[in-house]
Parts: sequence; C-alpha cells; structure tokens
Amino acid sequence: MTLANGREFVLIPGPSILPDRVLNAMHRAAMDIYAGPMLGVTDDCQHGLKRIFGTDGDTYIYASNGHGTWEASLTNLFSKGEKILVLESGRFATGWGEMATMLGLDVEVLACDWHSAIDLDRLEERLRNDREQAISAILAVQVDTASGVVNDIGALRKATDAAGHGALLMIDAVASLATMPFDFDGWGVDVAVSGSQKGLMSPAGLGFVAVSARAKDKHRQAGLRTPYWDWTARDGKVHYQKYCGTPPEQLLFGLQEALKMIFEEGLPSVFRRHEAIADATRAAIAAWEAAGATFNIREPASRSNSVSVFCFEDDLATRIIDYCKVNCGVTLGGGLGQLVDQTIRIGHMGHVNPPTILGCLGSIDMALASMGKQLPQTGVGAASMALGRYAAETSHAQAQA
Ligand SMILES: *Cc1c(COP(=O)(O)O)cnc(C)c1O
Repeated sequence: MTLANGREFVLIPGPSILPDRVLNAMHRAAMDIYAGPMLGVTDDCQHGLKRIFGTDGDTYIYASNGHGTWEASLTNLFSKGEKILVLESGRFATGWGEMATMLGLDVEVLACDWHSAIDLDRLEERLRNDREQAISAILAVQVDTASGVVNDIGALRKATDAAGHGALLMIDAVASLATMPFDFDGWGVDVAVSGSQKGLMSPAGLGFVAVSARAKDKHRQAGLRTPYWDWTARDGKVHYQKYCGTPPEQLLFGLQEALKMIFEEGLPSVFRRHEAIADATRAAIAAWEAAGATFNIREPASRSNSVSVFCFEDDLATRIIDYCKVNCGVTLGGGLGQLVDQTIRIGHMGHVNPPTILGCLGSIDMALASMGKQLPQTGVGAASMALGRYAAETSHAQAQA
C-alpha cells in the first residue's frame, strides 16, 4: 500500500520544479532560426540574465548544462600551464578545478572542510604569499549544493584587494542565481556561470556565462580557446553565431517565460520568498534534532537559501529518502561525495511556495513517525509556525508602508 499517487514533488537541488507557464511557453512547433520571434527571445533572455547577474557586460547563452559553462569559462580565458586557485567549500568548486586540471592548468586547491564557508583570512594570506602574482584566477562557488553552504562573494573580492592581488574572480552561481542577490559589477566578479534548471525554473540544457571587460581582454590571449565555446565567435552579428549553430528554441521560450515570472514577482520578493522557505526548512531541521538530525553547515549564517543539507547517524537518511519516494511521491536529494549515505538534501529553489515545502517536510515527519521516532514538535509544525510569523511580519510591514 502506498499513498504516493498524486502530484509528484521533486525537491532535489536541481532540476527544480517547472512552472506550468514555463512548460506551456515551450509547447510550440519548430520555427525559423534566421528571422521572426526567435530573435526577440534571445534579446529578452540576455537582457533578463544581465539584470539577474547584475551586470552591463556581456553574457553568453550556451546549449549546455552547468558543466558546459565550466568548460566554456576555462577554455575562453586560459592557456596550458597557467595557475589557478580553487576555493573548496563542498563538491562543486573542486569539480570545476578537476576540469581545469584535465585542460592542462596548474590547479591549487585551498582545502576546506565541507561544513563551513570559505576562510577569507586563509585566502588573503595565500594571495599575499603569491608575490609574483602567479595565480591568474580564483574559482569559487556561491552556493554549494553538496554541502549547502553560501559564500560571501563580495568578501572574496575584498580579500583579494586586501592582499593587493589582481587575480580574476570566477564564480559558480548555478545553484544560487535568482534565489539570492548577485552583484556581478558591484562585487567586481570577472566570470559568473549558471544554468537554467535551478533558481531559473527552466528545463536543464541552457548554460549562462557573464564576463567582465577585464576577462574579455584576457580572453584574446587565451590558448585553450575552442570553436564551440569561443566568446569572440559568439559575438558575431548573425543570430545563428550566438549559439554556434541552431538555437535550443523551445528551451529559450521556456527561459523567457521564467524570467517574465521572476520580474513580475520582483527580484526582492523572489529573494524574500526563498529566505522564508529556507527559514521554514531550517526550523523543521531544528525540530528533527530531537531525532538525531544535525545541520551540515555549522554556522547558521552560512546556510544557503536554495538548498538545505542535514545529516543523520547510521542509515536513517537513506531510509527517510526511500520512505518519502515510495510512500509520498516526494523525491529528496541524497548525499554527494564525502557526505554520501548520511545526508539529506532538500532543494528549495525556484518555483517553491509554502504548500510545496510543507508537503515535503511533512513527508519526512511521516517517515520519522513510521520508524517510531518520538518528537516534541514535528518538522512541519515548526516550519508552518515560522512561515506564519513571516507572513504576519510581511503584512504588518505592508500595512505600515
Ligand atoms: C548543479 C550544479 C552544477 C552543475 O550543473 P549541471 O547543470 O548539472 O552540469 C554546478 N555547480 C553547482 C553549484 C551546482 O549546484
């Protein structure tokens, strides 16, 4: 007997839930790629992405996932043997670094445990010791979906400035873009990469790269450039060149609609919603501490608003994930890398509202109840109280305004 038959909830940290509006916007026949509506869609998408990245600089849209944008950014900027510094804070910056090693770069990892944000003092010290400025670039992640950490990107640039170092700052915003602020120009970021299937609530298959003027200058000398990823080739006047071939038509219409939804809601409201939903999730995790749950990220201020990662002893996490899938139709993320087996990851990015998250958290309560765990307060109870308080504060603020 299962209760799972009903709408399925996929709350892994990407791909995220697809809004019906996005699905419907994609439902169209093949169209001309040289003229007509297709051209306007590219302009709309690039304009919207610039707003969300916070840049007036160039942005590129690839028919690729997030990994493609890693390769795009590396090949466009570097030559074999160049040195880069990877700031570990989970799985993803190091994954980007592994790709750089395969491409022939000299990669140094500033190692960190998977329970905290990047150590800014250590970064500054490492850069001060790089007297010849051999390090060309720094790679870091804004939100790491394996550990659940959020890094302060503006502070990374301040640390490089404090060390008097001119390295390019390259940021993976795949799991964070459109869930929290990104200020590419204001923070002094040189390259930011992202993808369509997380905060941007679109199908997987589109990759985005924002590029500073400084990075664009360096690009001209890069030895690793390849035809498909090349920025200069994609700067060509003809629309076809922007995709190095046929544009991923339907995906772009989906993204255009998602961006429209985001701007209708307003970016500040989108960020507040993510914060409220994440706070509610954290309230639930705190309630599950009575059943042995622990937050993976120790410092509360370093827990991200797009994914929550928490751990249980023994095989409890795996049993909860299985229970939710089979009995509730709720798909949760399991642990990655060194956190495999003991970890649950809940993706709360994109098209997520209170019933979505409460349904997910309530399913975990069901799983715990089925295993005989007694809790003073349920996770869903704690989360609904948190959301209720949030809604009351918001409407109070609106009444005052
Ligand atoms: C999901 C993710 C990626 C990889 O994106 P794909 O589209 O799966 O290639 C990279 N970085 C972060 C932080 C992610 O969360």
